[in-house]
Amino acid sequence: METTVIAVDGFASTGKSTLSKRLANELNFTYIDTGFMYRVVSYFALNSNLIEDGVILEREFEKALAETKFTWSTDTQSKKMLFNGKSFGDEIRTLVISTLVSQIAQLGFVREHLVAQQRSLSKLGSVVMDGRDIGTVVFPYADFKFFLVADSKIRAQRRFDELKAKGEKVLFEEILKNVVDRDHQDSTRDISPLRKAEDALEIDTTSFGEEEVFEQMVSYISK
Ligand code: C5P
Repeated sequence: METTVIAVDGFASTGKSTLSKRLANELNFTYIDTGFMYRVVSYFALNSNLIEDGVILEREFEKALAETKFTWSTDTQSKKMLFNGKSFGDEIRTLVISTLVSQIAQLGFVREHLVAQQRSLSKLGSVVMDGRDIGTVVFPYADFKFFLVADSKIRAQRRFDELKAKGEKVLFEEILKNVVDRDHQDSTRDISPLRKAEDALEIDTTSFGEEEVFEQMVSYISK
């Protein structure tokens, strides 16, 4: 079976998830949010006593992680990704997790484990996968690659509006700091740093609405 891989990488809150989900719907592909996976394992570490006084207990974490697995739910209506059979929602989108996740994502054993899972979850058919290292590491031979960037204040405002709408009490400055810190940590880490693949199409979403960016992506794929 001929399958297609579309890789969507970029900085935090550039609209990657929303656009990737739409693209997957439009093309009838499976959508894989790899940020979700890093967030879930961060939540897992935090809630399994694998972090003590802010220090990640790496040896214990590596052992515990090896026993875990991401799978697809059998509910055909909404294809949800499960972690150890459980689904996750807003609890992995809090500022606490957003602050921890880039630290967790620097660990070699975490990346190795998750990249293997990402490749295996993609085996069933064509996918749109979004993250930071999809076009460079997970699928360097992806059929189409996008790299999304945007002004950090605009990105923080989008994230701030999302969290406020969900009832989280947050300050704009906190969100802006988180977005900037994560970009820095993600771009400067030793293993699989965030960077544009040479053959990716870069789109600056600062002054475009979702619709316009979506059209640019569709038109690039159909050419
Ligand atoms: O996409 P999202 O903002 O939810 O990702 C959360 C974090 O997970 C990123 O800031 C990054 O530290 C990590 N991540 C990663 N590699 C990916 C996807 C996410 O390192 N492929």
